[in-house]
Amino acid sequence: MHELSLAQSILETALAEAQRVGSKRIRGIHAKVVGSSHHIEDTSSLEFCLEAVTKGTIAEGAEMRIEFMPSTLRCKKCDFTFPAQGSTLVCPRCRGGKLEELDAEQIRLENVYTE
Ligand SMILES: [Zn+2]
Repeated sequence: MHELSLAQSILETALAEAQRVGSKRIRGIHAKVVGSSHHIEDTSSLEFCLEAVTKGTIAEGAEMRIEFMPSTLRCKKCDFTFPAQGSTLVCPRCRGGKLEELDAEQIRLENVYTE
């Protein structure tokens, strides 16, 4: 399940950050997920997974704020770069179909609110 592995990555990053600042309680997590957004239709299933994985950790009950950012695609024919939208499979400039994803799926932790 894709959302579950994303949720685990978010939690691990948040826990590492809490440890770094010496916090014993995470109040909130703000994360950005960059990648092919069509993998995840909405944030509710990811939030549900986050609730499940944070249970029993110092992040239990933390307020989650998850944003999705489209990844960037590059056309191999004309070198045009553009944000991926839905299931765009052709270059908007030359209509070429050979596209390369520049930023593979990744999670960026924007903020961890600790106590
Ligand atoms: Zn092109």
